[in-house]
Amino acid sequence: MATLLIHAGRALTPATEISDAGILIREDAIEAIGPRSGMTLPAGAQEIRATDKTAVPGFIDVHIHGAGGHDVMEGTNAALRSITRRVSEYGTTSLVATTVTASTDQTLRAIEGIAGYIAQQHETEEPRAEVLGIHFEGPFISKDRRGVHPSQWIQLPSAETLSRFLKAAAGNARILTIAPEVLGAAPCIDAAREAGLVVSMGHTDASYEQARAAMARGARSATHVYNAMRPFSHRDPGVIGAVLTSPEVNAELIADGVHVEEAAMKLLLLAKGAAHVTLVSDGLSATGMPDGKYMLGEFEVTVSGGVCRNADGVLAGSTLTLDHALRNIVALGIPLPDAVRMLTLNPASLLGIEFKKGSLRVGADADILLLDENLHLAGVWARGVALN
Ligand SMILES: [Zn+2]
Repeated sequence: MATLLIHAGRALTPATEISDAGILIREDAIEAIGPRSGMTLPAGAQEIRATDKTAVPGFIDVHIHGAGGHDVMEGTNAALRSITRRVSEYGTTSLVATTVTASTDQTLRAIEGIAGYIAQQHETEEPRAEVLGIHFEGPFISKDRRGVHPSQWIQLPSAETLSRFLKAAAGNARILTIAPEVLGAAPCIDAAREAGLVVSMGHTDASYEQARAAMARGARSATHVYNAMRPFSHRDPGVIGAVLTSPEVNAELIADGVHVEEAAMKLLLLAKGAAHVTLVSDGLSATGMPDGKYMLGEFEVTVSGGVCRNADGVLAGSTLTLDHALRNIVALGIPLPDAVRMLTLNPASLLGIEFKKGSLRVGADADILLLDENLHLAGVWARGVALN
């Protein structure tokens, strides 16, 4: 990898805006960033002139099941290579591979496979998203709010089963989605916190009080807010009411315009502010593929007009890509730096890796996107490796 200087019309770090910016990449990291006028091109370095473009950090997806015809539950290097390559075309330069509720054995096999892939993922010169770790979505969820997760594999939360998952993950477990009101959730939340995981309330029928109690126990996030949750009511605000009124809690949002109506998205953004919403894809294997039939874990979903449903017509994940999510949020009237933050700095902060990912700063990985004036991708670098 050569040394490269990107000269962009502006850079959103995203905490600050630098106009007429220079970003110097050496190997896989950002060596310098600032006004281009204050930089000299190192000998032998290539300069990319993109003065009509905006540079932003690569997107981070903390809730994604698959893409390009493959699902992370396959757990093979080939499947994960295919997924990470495909999403990089949409600006996702890192992700947390998200499991779906399945049998314990099948989940363990998938976790071991993903961990094995992570251990060798950098032995490549191809641009692809980095797998930052694993998000367990299920099996410790509510049967009443399961969405399309198969009910026969939903289990009561068990710290013992979780410890088997953690062992299989070999240090790569990052997020646990759990329904905090279910019997056995409290010790499981404690075990997840002790292991350093982000505890995320999701697929949950929790009341307001139960959700607040989970936050007091250390739950810091909520999984695809509004979807697969006890509905909000003014006399029974539930988990949604708790999330909306607890500034410190991160809210995942699937901003495809199908999972959550515009007004509900606006309400969430107003209540939480730019710093506490993280845009996710909840993307399935069908992402980047034509309409048709696809697998999510072990069950089939039908994709029509880009919308995924199971045999009963229940919404099943999405085919949303994060570049599209960015444009959807900006179309709601959210300023671009705030929208960028929800795809970069916020997920990085949630995972505690904001010095390495999700930020254009010295020493961070060179995960960089160029956006044109319509917010379409005009360039992608993943750890310094250019797409195309
Ligand atoms: Zn879900």
